Amino acid sequence: MNFYSTNGQAPIASLEKAVVKGLAEDKGLYMPERIKNLSKEFYDNIENLSFQEIAYTVADAFFGEDVPAEDLRRIVYDTLAFDCPCIKVTDSIYSLELFHGPTLAFKDVGARFMARLLQFFLKKEGAGEVNVLVATSGDTGSAVANGFLGVEGIHVYVLYPKGKVSPIQECQFTTLGQNITAVEVDGVFDDCQALVKNAFIDADLNAHMQLTSANSINVARFLPQAFYYFYAYAQMKKKRLADQLVVCVPSGNFGNICSALFGKRMGLPIKRFIAANNANDVFFKYLQTGKYEPKASVQTIANAMDVGDPSNFARVYELYGKSHAAICANISGATYTDEQIAETIKEVKAETGYVCDPHGACGYRALKEGLKEGETGVFLETAHPAKFKDTVDRILGDNIEIPAKLQAFMKGAKQSVPMSKDFVSFKQYLMAE
Ligand SMILES: *Cc1c(COP(=O)(O)O)cnc(C)c1O
Repeated sequence: MNFYSTNGQAPIASLEKAVVKGLAEDKGLYMPERIKNLSKEFYDNIENLSFQEIAYTVADAFFGEDVPAEDLRRIVYDTLAFDCPCIKVTDSIYSLELFHGPTLAFKDVGARFMARLLQFFLKKEGAGEVNVLVATSGDTGSAVANGFLGVEGIHVYVLYPKGKVSPIQECQFTTLGQNITAVEVDGVFDDCQALVKNAFIDADLNAHMQLTSANSINVARFLPQAFYYFYAYAQMKKKRLADQLVVCVPSGNFGNICSALFGKRMGLPIKRFIAANNANDVFFKYLQTGKYEPKASVQTIANAMDVGDPSNFARVYELYGKSHAAICANISGATYTDEQIAETIKEVKAETGYVCDPHGACGYRALKEGLKEGETGVFLETAHPAKFKDTVDRILGDNIEIPAKLQAFMKGAKQSVPMSKDFVSFKQYLMAE
């Protein structure tokens, strides 16, 4: 399958090129040329399939032309070698918990899949080492570092702002060693992102080393997230609650919801979607006005969604033929302040005993406010609440338990490379690698 750029000015790319390069030459995002419908038999029988079987069928539609069946099957099964996401009831609203992977957030699946697919292509070509650069405000770095840990032929540099990520987050990518280097930047998240962007366009660096991105701009990272939505549908169908399914996705860069929209295009019977935002409301405003106006992000307690210019907006726009009306017919929006998020975490706990993380809380609230008669709502619980322990404890006056998986990270010794936010020193560092 070939991929084209949303900016329309770059050459058509093979899957391999799209995965190894990440971003197209014209800075657009790669889109598959075709989106296949899955068979009626698959949908009729989906509730009897395992998560891995469902995921393999979905992966085959996107990657099956380029990756032999036995390799793709291994990539999918290795990616999903942990507990399945699970559906929990919070009164009449359902939560699909996507935090059963190694770093307890949904990005594990995309990161693990991308690492394995990239490795497949490198082995096939006998190519040299690829270097993944990733800027993080917390969650992406841990998922990417753990997803790529120990994967031969790939080195990962995680750039993060010194003192601006929580200790729990920091230990998830600074204690790993092996092929993972944590770069501690004396600056803010935007400085880290600028260093990465400058590195991608620097001619000397690109001549010196092969660089790629593991953000959700990469097709191998965002498309596998569609697995979750097929699985959610299957679980709800099993409960006979899938007729008018509304799925609400806490959204930042819109990679996750974008994969869901691809799923719908493949025939997945989800009635409509809600994109729940924190105070960063650029998409919400777009739905209201038809104008997309990026702005600087503001800091919130749901910080993995602090995005002022969601990169996957370009894909959503393209998928619906650049039609505002078509987008509005399939997706509605919501935006919540930190106060509303905190209020929701308290309310859900009091009414159901369920502890939401700040991102999931946006999803819950948007369903609570937006579901119509006859509809059933599922929101994605995108991270384990313990990843945001300080915030959640403060809001609930509680001391929530840290799962063993997370505690294990906290025992390791921190290793990081100190870096100034100025590109010259970062470049010098990479040139010497
Ligand atoms: C990354 C992230 C999001 C936002 O997902 P996007 O694909 O960027 O829209 C939501 N919640 C958590 C916990 C995340 O880590």
